[in-house]
Amino acid sequence: SEAGTRGLQPRVLVLANQKGGVGKTTTAINLGTALAAIGEKVLIIDLDPQGNASTGLGIDRKSRQISTYHVLSGEASLAESITETVVPGLSVAPSTLDLLGVELEIANERNRVHRLQSAIRGLSASEVSEPFTYILIDCPPSLNLLTINALTAADAVLVPLQCEFFALEGLSQLLKTVEQVRSALNPQLTIHGVVLTMFDPRNNLSGQVVADVRQFMGSKVYETMIPRNVRVSEAPSHGKPVLLYDLKCAGSQAYLRLASEVIQRERALRAA
Ligand code: ADP
Ligand code: MG
Repeated sequence: SEAGTRGLQPRVLVLANQKGGVGKTTTAINLGTALAAIGEKVLIIDLDPQGNASTGLGIDRKSRQISTYHVLSGEASLAESITETVVPGLSVAPSTLDLLGVELEIANERNRVHRLQSAIRGLSASEVSEPFTYILIDCPPSLNLLTINALTAADAVLVPLQCEFFALEGLSQLLKTVEQVRSALNPQLTIHGVVLTMFDPRNNLSGQVVADVRQFMGSKVYETMIPRNVRVSEAPSHGKPVLLYDLKCAGSQAYLRLASEVIQRERALRAA
């Protein structure tokens, strides 16, 4: 049936916030791992030239011969860039610093904002042994052409917000950009949710920020908050998601809860 066929399309979620250091990459890696751990087949597309998602998943430079740079510049297909990770069920399309140059290279191409969308559509038609159920796109800390490509390709946006004083600053600019992409390029685009990161219950300010964000964004904010947790920050230097590094720590447990919340929202969206 048509619904059945559509059900096989991966859900494409983009991790976006033009602020750096708010937990986009950490959330891509660990939400991806948690989704894979509960049986989803997940692809992380690393769209940040820094390549932190690739490094944090243990992909060394030698294993990045075909990267998202080649995908966006049209030299390779997304399938050709896909690399397996240490996590069963989780693959990555890695990035390298070459990606910094792609924006200028394709600046005058008519289809420049649709490069990633075409690559993802091409993937579902090509022979991937087991189709992906989720694609997570890790964005750079900027609302540049890379992020616009991600928003154009996505079903929904997941916004990591750090629990700090300036958390809401910049959020309205991000929401405006999402609205512009929705009206001009991708009518299906929605906000999946806002995830509060690096929450510290001993810090009164953290609690105030949570209250403000919940007031501003209402039910869009996930119930799960990711605590500030040293194990989360140590894991990338071991080339592992925190769930493989220390499954029992508070950070791992929070990412598992976030994954089940994401899946619950997906079910609600599909039923609607
Ligand atoms: P972004 O991708 O938005 O720039 P990162 O995910 O790279 O942000 O996170 C920024 C820094 O904060 C990294 O050093 C990361 O290890 C650390 N970090 C992220 N989440 C947590 C957390 N829950 N607890 C402790 N450190 C964290
Ligand atoms: Mg990052």
